[in-house]
Amino acid sequence: MTPNSDIAVIGAGIVGLSTAYAAQQQGLSVTVYDSGPPGGGQSAGQARVFRHAHDDPRLVAMAADSRETWREWEEDFGAELVSSDGAVALGPGIDDKLDVLAGFPQLPVRRIGHDELAEAMPLLAPFDGPAMLDETGGSIRTQAAIGALADRLRDSMVTDHVLTLRQTRRETVEVRTGTRCQEHGHVVVCAGRGTAPLARGVGLSLPVRLAAHVRVTFAATGPPPPRVATLQDSSGEFGETGIYAAAYPGNSHYAVGLSETVQVGEDGSFAEPSELAQLAQRAAAYTKRALPGLTATPVEFVHCWVTELPWNEDAVAVWQSPAASFVAGHNLFKQAPGLGRALVESVTDGRLPTHLTPEARLGEPQATS
Ligand SMILES: Cc1cc2nc3c(=O)[nH]c(=O)nc-3n(C[C@H](O)[C@H](O)[C@H](O)COP(=O)(O)OP(=O)(O)OC[C@H]3O[C@@H](n4cnc5c(N)ncnc54)[C@H](O)[C@@H]3O)c2cc1C
Repeated sequence: MTPNSDIAVIGAGIVGLSTAYAAQQQGLSVTVYDSGPPGGGQSAGQARVFRHAHDDPRLVAMAADSRETWREWEEDFGAELVSSDGAVALGPGIDDKLDVLAGFPQLPVRRIGHDELAEAMPLLAPFDGPAMLDETGGSIRTQAAIGALADRLRDSMVTDHVLTLRQTRRETVEVRTGTRCQEHGHVVVCAGRGTAPLARGVGLSLPVRLAAHVRVTFAATGPPPPRVATLQDSSGEFGETGIYAAAYPGNSHYAVGLSETVQVGEDGSFAEPSELAQLAQRAAAYTKRALPGLTATPVEFVHCWVTELPWNEDAVAVWQSPAASFVAGHNLFKQAPGLGRALVESVTDGRLPTHLTPEARLGEPQATS
């Protein structure tokens, strides 16, 4: 039997779509399975932060590589995909970030003072503490990216839930969905919350922690400022030490979240359902104190599952079986273009780059000599 396609990708979030598009660009035939519409899982909603700063220099290198692809895609799709407004970080933690970034002199990242901060982030209350600006960071235009990729892949999409994967004697992989049974040369599983269960089905145990997350969006009170950088605030100056925020296209809305998540059971059950509401209230209280240019009442929420690896909040790794490759991690939106390309190359070359193997613990701070 001839396989239905060279590669099947399970999951049409940003990682799956990036992988499928990389495969299509390499001239491979591809099938993309998703139970629902593209971008309906952890990739949902407007805006994500693109930043180069990471604890692990290997993730900085991956982000820089992905940033190049985001630029290429902007040309390719004729749409802005990352704003040119920059990414700001506040708090004493910027010293460690700048130490890691010093290994990447090509990246325009630097400490900034009060005036430059006010220019990059006009929504922020006066702040005199340590601040840095990543000039080529910015807000990812998530829906433009998902829409353009899904459009390029429209003939490859199958809306169906995948139940099992199985290696056949013909060295193909059988995918069984609600209503289909198809074979593919290789399968790349980018199924977010669905990845660990599918991996268990072929005997792999992924140390993925399922958590729940909330992000709250506020409208600008006045005319949208022409420039609004993304924000990471670990300063504690405004009552929180783990805040991230990103502007919607046009800067009329700003989405604010705590990096804290709520741990849930493997089946998605909450020990304490009010925890999610508490996180949303803390994000709103922070916004009132730190971002006086925004309305006090949220206009939109993103409630979402997140899948985290235990060694770092930005960790990502790929597990492989003869049947398939399985991707797991968190904060992957910015990394998706480079990650997708690396996944396809690992299929065509037959070798996964060492830094993506679970043993490499990508994301963990690296000892400096
Ligand atoms: C509120 C919020 C804010 C975030 N902020 C940032 C940020 O600022 N910067 C950043 O880089 N990242 C951020 N992230 C993380 C980032 O959005 C995710 O890491 C990324 O979107 C994950 O994409 P994915 O394609 O791996 O997974 P998903 O988007 O979850 O896609 C998985 C897809 O697989 C499908 N699926 C699952 N199981 C099956 C199955 N059995 N059969 C068929 N289909 C299946 C699902 O329907 C889903 O569409 C944020 C996440 C959230 C929720």
